[in-house]
Amino acid sequence: TVTRLAPFATTIFAEMSQLAATHDAINLGQGFPDTDGPQAMLDAARAAIAEGNNQYPPGPGIPALRQAVADHQLRCYGIEYDPASEILITVGATEAIAGSLVGLVETGDEVVMIEPYYDAYAAATAMAGGVRRTVPLVADGDGFSLDRDALASTITDATRVLIVNSPHNPTGTVLGDEDLRAIAQTCIEHDVIVISDEVYEHLVFDGRTHTTIAALPGMRERTLRISSAAKTFNVTGWKVGWVSGPADLVAAARTAKQFMSYVGSGPFQPAIAVALNTEMDWVRDSCAALSAKRDLISGALRDVGFGVHRTEGTFFVCADPRPLGYTDGEEFCRDLPARVGVAAVPVSAFVDHPEPWAHLVRFAFAKRDEVLLEGAERLRRLQA
Ligand code: PMP
Ligand code: GLN
Repeated sequence: TVTRLAPFATTIFAEMSQLAATHDAINLGQGFPDTDGPQAMLDAARAAIAEGNNQYPPGPGIPALRQAVADHQLRCYGIEYDPASEILITVGATEAIAGSLVGLVETGDEVVMIEPYYDAYAAATAMAGGVRRTVPLVADGDGFSLDRDALASTITDATRVLIVNSPHNPTGTVLGDEDLRAIAQTCIEHDVIVISDEVYEHLVFDGRTHTTIAALPGMRERTLRISSAAKTFNVTGWKVGWVSGPADLVAAARTAKQFMSYVGSGPFQPAIAVALNTEMDWVRDSCAALSAKRDLISGALRDVGFGVHRTEGTFFVCADPRPLGYTDGEEFCRDLPARVGVAAVPVSAFVDHPEPWAHLVRFAFAKRDEVLLEGAERLRRLQA
């Protein structure tokens, strides 16, 4: 492996899922749901295959899906994107992120990300030849918010891209309007491109609404908004994502994407168009169910003795096992499958600066209630 990718040899998700399988553990590590999405979408995928949609789709994605993505963003956020030049369908948000970075970052350009960060940002930055910088989240009550002083000192004229992720993996934080405004102002000041990863845009709880940074004044022209069907419609295996933004930035991502996968997910594209056009009520119900799961797992973790952080959106809750005698989250996660039959992931896998994060562990709660209850029951063995 080349030096720049050596640190990324095995993802934490693969590692912990493997441990979970070895010990027949309840896998609350990797974030994926264990139920299917809306029936109309599943039927549309079956029909697409039966009707012979089994060859290369058009490079930028099928027109019906690009139109559905455009309509969806107009409905949800009031932003207009031209489906022909301003929307690109990708192989999941993962390729949208990698394609955007590889298409926009020159060797040595600085790429700033919020820490903790989703691991793919660091790997894709390395593939693009960029230099990673981070701006931390800081504890704010039982939740987190952005360290705005660090934002102001880290973003400079050497910064090419800032990656924003809200709702945030792994903390479940929904960035507040003040944080988003501070990010926008700083990026405008230093002429920075924003890659906004919004894959959890529809999974926000307690009456919160998702704000896309692309909708703030002066931001549409410098923001690549990325999302994906994976989390919204419970299809993490279908790998349908998209990038929306001004034509020149989308063209940069398309240039790279052409030679990463060329195209992808042919028969799933029309099915996701159906889902975006007709299944947002299903998504609302699914989100309500997810917030009840958030409550279930948070309460169970608290009962066992964990410190539990507030989760405002996503599939994830962060917990502090120090009251149970573990000071190191990674060690805790390596022990957990064998010790009680549950898997989680350490937040240290998402950081460059372990100090404030080393104790924390992330549990994924997008699971059937009986799975969460069994997981909770097993975690109680930690008290023994
Ligand atoms: N961004 C974040 C924040 C994620 O948690 C994930 C994992 N689902 C992705 C991107 C990747 O999305 P996809 O599965 O659509 O490639
Ligand atoms: N996004 C999911 C998570 O954070 C899955 C990631 C993966 O398996 N690469 O758990």
